Amino acid sequence: SAPAGQAGAAPAHGPLLAKDARHALHPWADLSTLGKQDALVITGAQGVEVVDSRGRRYIDAIGGMWCVTVGYGREELVEAMAAQARRMPYFTPFGDVANEPAIELAAQLAALAPGDLNRVHFTTGGSTAVDSAVRIAHLYHAAMGRPEKHHVLSRVDAYHGSTYLAASLSGKEADRVRFHYEDRWVHHLESPGHDPDNSPLSADDRLTGLLDGMEAAIARIGPENIACFVAEPVLASGGVLVPPPGYHRATRELCRRHDILYVSDEVVTGFGRLGHFFASQDRFGIVPDMITTAKGLTSGYQPLGAVLISDRIADALAGTADPGKPVFSNGFTYSGHPVACAAALANIELMRREDICGHVRDVGPYFIDRLRELRGSPIVHAVRGDHLMACVECRVPGESGPTPRNMALAQRVDAYCEAGGLLVRPYENLCIMSPPLVVDRAGIDRIAGIMAGALARAEADLRAGTVA
Ligand code: PMP
Repeated sequence: SAPAGQAGAAPAHGPLLAKDARHALHPWADLSTLGKQDALVITGAQGVEVVDSRGRRYIDAIGGMWCVTVGYGREELVEAMAAQARRMPYFTPFGDVANEPAIELAAQLAALAPGDLNRVHFTTGGSTAVDSAVRIAHLYHAAMGRPEKHHVLSRVDAYHGSTYLAASLSGKEADRVRFHYEDRWVHHLESPGHDPDNSPLSADDRLTGLLDGMEAAIARIGPENIACFVAEPVLASGGVLVPPPGYHRATRELCRRHDILYVSDEVVTGFGRLGHFFASQDRFGIVPDMITTAKGLTSGYQPLGAVLISDRIADALAGTADPGKPVFSNGFTYSGHPVACAAALANIELMRREDICGHVRDVGPYFIDRLRELRGSPIVHAVRGDHLMACVECRVPGESGPTPRNMALAQRVDAYCEAGGLLVRPYENLCIMSPPLVVDRAGIDRIAGIMAGALARAEADLRAGTVA
């Protein structure tokens, strides 16, 4: 049966593509194809499937962009958004003005968050949440009488967003060319991923190396100068990189010892992707000082982000020794947008009612196991991930890393996935997957089956010499 999202006439495919090619500059567009792009125009969606403007159906293993967690077409969310839009679509959230859904959502987030993270600052998405968290860290140390503590630790391969500061924190060298990123007070530690299948090091030795590196960086910069450490629990866009066991607790401890605030960027790992509302404590055993979240907060139905802040930090901000009127000069026109907050409230209720986190804990290991079977292919270098975030790393035999040939090969795999009715996210030589959390075992089998077929076809092309 056709997905419900397909109901109604699909807009004409050809004219749409022409307008897109002439007028749109897509986020993260390949600039060499600007003006001639043949975009995939998604026009409908239902469950874990989407349909394009030519009527082709795909299983969405990208989850929109890591964000569509409860699946498409959930009437509860749509109804909540419509009802709020009718009642009161918008009013300013600035200063001492509030709205009901934002108040309710802040209280619910505080209840879900670990430790004393009871204070919520809403933003428009993940980048603005990360940016805001760094500003809060600066404000906190200034309030504590240590304004010189302003340097920020991030990591190579991190992705924290696309505002200029969040992009400065991001750690892919290729994304950094031609821009003028902040490098006076932003520092990148070593990328923390550990791949036990391919690493010559044991997990313990890898962990020791990472911690030694972090301690050395702290000593070099001076702990008295460092405001915060910003870290994804599992690095998402950088290639689904999972740190070795013990990394989270040990880095948390290092930060505590040096009075460096620990900001856990759970924009991807929050809201169920690793089987819990927040992965920091329930998956990795740490209580950070701040958590940034977005994406799955509304299941992608509305743009919204948030910084969850500890009472310790909030109390310090409230006690700012400012002779004038201290103002927290951070916030956006759409901070705590009532329609977005209504979507988030309905999303949390649905996640609880359907025990989405329990479902992810159930099917997540099956997803990883099914994908790991693909390691039998000679063009698969690695399969890694955690619950419902994973990636397949492609390689021309004998060649490793994001070389031009490996990237071309991954693109070929991606194209065959698409032809077979599966959307994965191509990045360098990786095919990244983060399906809606409601995916079941049959859906996982379909993803693994189409991916296996795509790998076999790409391998045949490689043998035939038709991959660049
Ligand atoms: N942090 C992480 C870990 C992310 O993966 C992303 C987006 N992929 C962001 C921040 C930025 O979020 P947004 O695109 O909503 O600004």
